[in-house]
Amino acid sequence: MASSTNAFEMAQAQFDHVAELLNLDPQVREFLRWPLREYHFRVPIRMDDGTIRVFEGFRVQHNDARGPHKGGLRFHAAETADTVRALAMWMTWKCAVADIPLGGGKGGVIVDPSTLSVSEKERLVRGYMKQIWKNIGPRNDVPAPDVGTTPQMMGWMMDEYSTLCGEYTPGVITGKPVGGGGSLGRTEATGYGVVYHIREAMKHLKLDSSQCSAAIQGFGNVAQYAAIGFIELLKGKVVCVSYWDREDRAPYTVSKEDGIDPHFLMSITDQYGSVDKEKAKKAGYVIEDAEAWISKDVDVLIPAALEGQINAETVQKISDQVKIIAEGANGPTTPDADAVLKTRNIFVIPDFLCNAGGVTTSYFESVQNDMNFYWTREEVLEKLDTKMTQAFKSVLDMSEKEKVCMRDAAYMVSIARVVKAMQLRGWI
Ligand code: NAD
Repeated sequence: MASSTNAFEMAQAQFDHVAELLNLDPQVREFLRWPLREYHFRVPIRMDDGTIRVFEGFRVQHNDARGPHKGGLRFHAAETADTVRALAMWMTWKCAVADIPLGGGKGGVIVDPSTLSVSEKERLVRGYMKQIWKNIGPRNDVPAPDVGTTPQMMGWMMDEYSTLCGEYTPGVITGKPVGGGGSLGRTEATGYGVVYHIREAMKHLKLDSSQCSAAIQGFGNVAQYAAIGFIELLKGKVVCVSYWDREDRAPYTVSKEDGIDPHFLMSITDQYGSVDKEKAKKAGYVIEDAEAWISKDVDVLIPAALEGQINAETVQKISDQVKIIAEGANGPTTPDADAVLKTRNIFVIPDFLCNAGGVTTSYFESVQNDMNFYWTREEVLEKLDTKMTQAFKSVLDMSEKEKVCMRDAAYMVSIARVVKAMQLRGWI
């Protein structure tokens, strides 16, 4: 597989590898290697000081054979068209593996949102929608929050789209605030989804979850609810989490060998994700270096922070006790580390299967918007559990049938589903 650091070339190389395993027709391969459509545009904004700034925006629609394009909007200073293309392609596979009737898409604006005031952000978000509204919609392409964007921004976008269309259209975007068209259960959906997958992996490996421990990298949205779920749903023990310390501008691991209390740690974490180290130490926690999480003697590792964290160097630190790696983050394992994990027989739940709980609950949000009838949190989580359990089973079955790892199996399941939908629609 290519060792390129260009995200889109990496996404294409991963696809090519599985297309080969599936013996996919060369024309179909070429078709799926590229997005169906791309929109590149400029968004002029009047800044608070009266000057005009023009931002570059994108929306990439990779494939909609199975349903409307679906994927987040990133506001990031280092955004590139290729990153957005790669992420749009990965969304196609993620929606297909979760078996939700949606395709893949992604959008972005080249901007550091922390440099904008609240009203500048609102104008940028509304300006983005003015450029793209004719090319998206509940039956066509449904964006969502991602890096640098928030539920409030989704609320403004939904309002702008509704104004431009002349009718209230909550289904144009997901990740909206609860009370403004959002779904209960969305906050915990990705972390809980990770835990449902771990539960199924433990059943398969015949492990007793109440006797198992986990180490988690990150303490943001995914990590917090993965920790709560691991302790409350699986009755296991979490020995550490890690986070980026805003004051020290450095990452740390926060450990407690007899088990952390995620609710306590959340109560001493500020709105930017920094844990109060002094309060943690007083409560018996140990503050260790950033990489301490990966060398813990635990049964499960949950990388839930950043990409590329399990790489050729860090993979050597993983304890012999580790049996499962549940990839909560997107792209936490590099291909060379992945090869080492295979030789060590560690069961890896690949990212686009493991963290599909978020997009699945976004789909539930669209369904509720369509019906204008909203489910309870319990109903949402029960439906999420069913979907994640089915997705895990279909990937495990493929992995056993084709004697491939779970990552290749997940790609095989999703690519086969997309190809089948294209055939049924008469595209190929
Ligand atoms: P977040 O911003 O809420 O949390 C990220 C966490 O990582 C924070 O606790 C931060 O302090 C920590 N962190 C940052 N740099 C670190 C470092 N060097 N070492 C250790 N910790 C560090 O983000 P999130 O929403 O929890 O997303 C985490 C990952 O999961 C990302 O890869 C994201 O793409 C992926 N993901 C998220 C969702 C979702 O619904 N939130 C869905 C699918 C995938």
